[in-house]
Amino acid sequence: MYNFEQYKDEVIQLRRHFHKHPELGFQEYETSKFIQEYLKNLGLEPKVIAKTGVVALIEGKYPGKTILLRSDMDALAVLEENDVAYVSENKGVMHACGHDGHMAMLLVAAKILTEQRDAMHGIVKLVFQPNEEEDGASFLIKEGVLKNPDVDTSFAVHLWTPIPSGYIGLKSGPVMAEMYNFKITLVGKGGHTSAPQSSIDPIICAANIIQSVQSIQTREIDPMDATVIMFGKISGGTSSNIIAETVEMEGTLRYLYDGDDDGEQQPRKRFERIVKSICEAYRINGTVEFMPSSYTVMNDESSVQFLKTHVMNQIVPEHNIIPYCCMGGEDFSEFINHNNIPGALIFIGTGNPEVGSDKPHHRCDFNIDEDTLLTGVKIHVLTALEYLK
Ligand SMILES: [Zn+2]
Ligand SMILES: [Zn+2]
Repeated sequence: MYNFEQYKDEVIQLRRHFHKHPELGFQEYETSKFIQEYLKNLGLEPKVIAKTGVVALIEGKYPGKTILLRSDMDALAVLEENDVAYVSENKGVMHACGHDGHMAMLLVAAKILTEQRDAMHGIVKLVFQPNEEEDGASFLIKEGVLKNPDVDTSFAVHLWTPIPSGYIGLKSGPVMAEMYNFKITLVGKGGHTSAPQSSIDPIICAANIIQSVQSIQTREIDPMDATVIMFGKISGGTSSNIIAETVEMEGTLRYLYDGDDDGEQQPRKRFERIVKSICEAYRINGTVEFMPSSYTVMNDESSVQFLKTHVMNQIVPEHNIIPYCCMGGEDFSEFINHNNIPGALIFIGTGNPEVGSDKPHHRCDFNIDEDTLLTGVKIHVLTALEYLK
């Protein structure tokens, strides 16, 4: 077994460097430069993609398949409250999702894989992707990241504090939710609250919509297909004694849905149907807009089987692999199921109350357990080497 331990300090130092210098989505210019420099020092030829993204190929001595390994790069608009030496120097911006660790792990994996070129059949395509939090992946796809050479399989890891350190979250099927932001606009007719008969009230219509769409989860689809419909913002009206003209509501619709994409049974179609029917009942002129954020991440069965029997068996005991899925969104779906490429997203447990890394993602006191970084390096390296064997 390869001696991964020798890289423990380096992967931690790299992660701390990224943590200190976080940048928001599509503004990862310094991050991108740092990554390009590192890869050039390995003798690779990194290319820029989608503004700040970086792609590089590690070409084996022998011909073979192409495996894509992806890390995201972006930080979040969060003011860090951790008291650590490597605290964010870019005030108001913070790596609060673990993407700093993802970059460090993939860089060190690139170093190890570059040393293994002489025995490798095929190509490792390294992808450092900007703006994961806002579907940056789709921009890379448009710029041809899956082509030239064509990608046969894709893998990514995510450090995950809800899973304890030492455990791996891995299963086939849906593992992260499809997510849509929605906006509903209801237009009625204003007037005096003493004479509702001469107005059309959008507020009562809004109240009914908020209640009724919840029945999608409880009455229309399989209770085992998790769905969350949340309204995060509602506004309308100007005064207590004036019937409102309009109401606007915004929220998110998330689901782990394994069914067809566009049929009438689709949760989005159901949502629209209910909203439109209620609007009609209340004589309201209503519109629904959806802004896609990310598609369901569907791990493919054979990729998961491959990982379990060829990769994870070298890293953790079998009982430390848990079948995990959650309602968060991830644009890694673009690298696999949404573009019909087999592959998987693997959760690396990094929750450890002893080092304070048990806080939720995206929070000001989020942190990771740095002892789990080597696990990610191992996963990348062994996945590539085993796949290209
Ligand atoms: Zn995130
Ligand atoms: Zn993330």
